[in-house]
Amino acid sequence: MRPYILAESNWKYIKDATFDVAILPWGACEAHNYHMPYATDIIESELISAEAARLAWEKGTKVIVLPPIPFGVNTGQFDVTLDINMNPSTQLLVLKDVIEVLNRQGIHKLIILNSHGGNDFKTMIRELGLKFPDMFLATCNWFQALDQKEFFENKDDHAGEMETSLMMFLRPDLVLPLSEAGDGAAKKFTFAAIREGWAWAERKWTRVTKDTGVGDPRKATKEKGEKYFKAVTQKVALFFEEVAKTRKEDFYR
Ligand SMILES: [Zn+2]
Repeated sequence: MRPYILAESNWKYIKDATFDVAILPWGACEAHNYHMPYATDIIESELISAEAARLAWEKGTKVIVLPPIPFGVNTGQFDVTLDINMNPSTQLLVLKDVIEVLNRQGIHKLIILNSHGGNDFKTMIRELGLKFPDMFLATCNWFQALDQKEFFENKDDHAGEMETSLMMFLRPDLVLPLSEAGDGAAKKFTFAAIREGWAWAERKWTRVTKDTGVGDPRKATKEKGEKYFKAVTQKVALFFEEVAKTRKEDFYR
């Protein structure tokens, strides 16, 4: 039993334990090019949370990782078979129920460890922050923590070189050989404002990519995945530790 993983913990241990911060891994259930499993985002959120929590725990951080939420916002992938969409309004209710428990039981810090680009918890955190003023609520996109260019040749948006490398390291048993993968070629919006990033609209996924990937996975290796996993988890662990150990009076300087 890892004492920082709730799913492995028992009541004998938990009844006397105290925690400063809870981690909620949040994934998505969706196609990842031809070669990777639907659970890719779930596996990433769970294993990155677990390893970052282990590193933080070893430095004396009282952190507990909750079981991952498996469904993300997949409204743009409505026509991809068995991409299971959880609407933002449903996510808000799920998040509220989890926060209600933590708030009642005095665990006043929560970090959502998000794996999926379609999930956006910012507006939910704003709304729930008003309802639960004692809670510190944060969302963390681990995939934005580091500059991908330092680790990978081709930029990854979805199921490309970064995610494929990571999964080759984490769950090689679930990744098909790269010869089975599509090239992840994807169209961009016609509108300059959207391409430049100051306007936004949802992409209709199957109009943009043939193989469901956005980003070329073919330069992926297990070694790149291992190096990136180690760097990402160290950085995320530091965030867990800082949040857990910083008093609310000292949040700003
Ligand atoms: Zn993914």
